[in-house]
Amino acid sequence: MSDNTNRSGGSKLSRRGFLAGAAASTALGLSASTAIAQQHGDLCSQAGVDCGTVATGADGMVVSVSPEASEVGARVLRDGGNAIDAAIAVQFALNVAQPHTSGIGGGGFMLYYDADADEVEVVNSRERAPAGATPNMFLEGGEPIPFDERHTHGNAVGVPGTASGLRRAAACYGSRPIEELIDPAIDLAANGVPVSGYLADRIVEDEWKLNDAAREVFVPDGEPLEEGDPLVQPDLARTLELVRDRGIREVYEGEIAEAIADTVQDAGGSMTVEDLSRYEATLDEPVQGSYRGYDVYSMSPPSSGGLTVIQILNLLEPFELGENYDARDGTKYHLLAEAMRLAYADRGEYMGDPEFVEVPSEGLLDPAYVAQRRELISPDELNPDPQPGNPWAYQSGEAPSASRPTERAVGQTTHFTVADAEGNLVSYTTTIEQSFGSGIMVPGYGIMLNNELTDFDAEPGGANQVQPNKRPLSSMSPTIMAEGGEPFLTVGSPGGPTIITSVVQAILHHVEYGLDLIDAIDEPSIYAPESPEITRWEEGIPEEAREEAAELGNEWVESVPIGNVNMLRANDVYEGAADQVREGLSVGIEETAD
Ligand code: GLU
Repeated sequence: MSDNTNRSGGSKLSRRGFLAGAAASTALGLSASTAIAQQHGDLCSQAGVDCGTVATGADGMVVSVSPEASEVGARVLRDGGNAIDAAIAVQFALNVAQPHTSGIGGGGFMLYYDADADEVEVVNSRERAPAGATPNMFLEGGEPIPFDERHTHGNAVGVPGTASGLRRAAACYGSRPIEELIDPAIDLAANGVPVSGYLADRIVEDEWKLNDAAREVFVPDGEPLEEGDPLVQPDLARTLELVRDRGIREVYEGEIAEAIADTVQDAGGSMTVEDLSRYEATLDEPVQGSYRGYDVYSMSPPSSGGLTVIQILNLLEPFELGENYDARDGTKYHLLAEAMRLAYADRGEYMGDPEFVEVPSEGLLDPAYVAQRRELISPDELNPDPQPGNPWAYQSGEAPSASRPTERAVGQTTHFTVADAEGNLVSYTTTIEQSFGSGIMVPGYGIMLNNELTDFDAEPGGANQVQPNKRPLSSMSPTIMAEGGEPFLTVGSPGGPTIITSVVQAILHHVEYGLDLIDAIDEPSIYAPESPEITRWEEGIPEEAREEAAELGNEWVESVPIGNVNMLRANDVYEGAADQVREGLSVGIEETAD
C-alpha cells in the first residue's frame, strides 16, 4: 500500500478557514460542529481504503485532481454504487471543489467501459454554438479579436452539456438516482472546501477576468482566497439543490436556464433558453486503433484527440523507441516531435464536428496511409515543412475544402478516472475550457460559464469554423487501452492541444519504457505541433539530449510543466496514479471482511 501523505485536503485547512467555514455553514442552518466534521472526511483512515498519489484497491478506484471529489466518489463505490454513479458524484463534487476547471456550465467526454456488454461507449456532452452564432463572430475589422477579449465575451460561451451528459450516463448505465449523487456536492458547496494551492494560484492569475458574481466568491472583500481558506458557495449549493429537487431539465428549461441565457446575453452573446432546451448529450462510438498489439479506444470527433493520439502512436510504432533509444535520448525527442508535427498538420486540416464536416477518420488511421506519412520521418534530419497528407485517398468520400486553424490557447480542463468491483471503467475529461472559463459566473446561481466556443477557429473557412449548433473541435483524449480484449489502462489529461501529446507520452513511458504509472506521468514530456519548434518541454530533459535534437534542426522554446495526467491500471488489483502538479488524490477501495 502506498503513502497517505499527499493529501492536500483537511490537513491544509487553516484555522481562519475552519472558523469562517463553520460560520457560513451555521448561516445555512447547519451546526458548526456538523460542518467541521463534514470538512474532515475520515475515509482515508478507514480499513480497506488506500489513499495517496499512488493507491491500490481490489474493488474500486477513483483518481481525480481533488481529494474531496476522489473521496466522494470512493464513498459511492463503498456504498455499492457502480463506476457511473461514482463518476456522476465526482463530477458534481469537482464542480464545487475545482469550479475553475469543470462543472454544469461546461462540457466533456466520458469514455465508459461497460464490463457486462464488454464495450467501450462514449457519453458526449460537448458544448454547442447557439443558433445565433456566426462564422465571423470572433473577427473585428477582418482580424481575429485578441484571445483575452474573445474568451471573456458572451459569444465564447457554448450551450453547456455536462448536466445533460450526466443525466444520460445515469439513465443508460447508472444504478442510483442522480439526486442521491448530488447530495455530497451540495454539502461541499454549503459547508465549504479548503481552497487547493492550485486554485489559489489560479484565482490570483485570473482575477482580472472574473465578473462581479465570481469576484464575490473567489475574491471576497477584494482579497483573493488563499490556500486552505474555505471556499463556501451558497449560491451554487442552492442551484445544486434545485437540480436535485426539480431534475436536470432545470438547467435546460427552468429558472436556471433562464438565468444562464440572461447572463450570456448581458455579456454580449446570443444564447437563448431555446438553445438550452434543444441541447441533448449524445451517445457516440469511440475511435479505435491498435498499438503494439493493444487495442486503443479514445475520443472520436468532435475531438481531434483520439485520432491524433492513435496516429502519433502508429507513426512511431516501428521505430521501437523503447528498444532503440533511451527515454531521454535526443533522437527519441526528435522522432516524437516529427510524428507530432505530421499528425497536427492532419488534425488542423481535416478535423471538426462530424455533424457538419466529413472527417476522414478511416483514412487517417489506415496502416498504408500512416506508412506513407512515416516515410517523411527520418532519425537523421528534420522535416522543415510538414504538410497535411491526403487521407481521403485511403477511404471513400470526398474531401471538403478546409484550411488550417488558428493556434488555440492551452486551457485548464480536468481529467478523472473511476473503476468499480465489476470491472466497469470511466475515463472522463471534463472542462469549462480556460481556467474559470469565460470568467462569467451566473449571478445568484454560482455557475461558472465556459468559453468553449473559442475552440472554434476565429477565422472562417475551415473544417472548424463557427456554425450555429455546431460543436467546436476539442483535443480532449480520454483513453482506455485493452490487451486481449481486457481493458488494462486508462489515461487522460487537461491542457488544450497539449492533451494529445501528454496522453501519447504517458502511454509510451508506461508501455514502451515499462515505467510505473507515477514515473510514466512524471517523466518529462514535450509538445511540438509545428516545425522546427519544440514549443514546450519539461524540466529533466538532459542538456545533451537537447543539443542532439537541436543539431537535427529542432528549436527548444519554452520550458514549462505540461498537462496533468491521471492514470489507472487494472491487473489483479487496480492501481491509480495522480499527477502532483495539481495535488490530485487516488483512493483505492478493498472490501474488508466484517
Ligand atoms: N477546450 C479544450 C479542448 O476541448 C480543453 C481545455 C483545455 O484543457 O485546454 O480541447
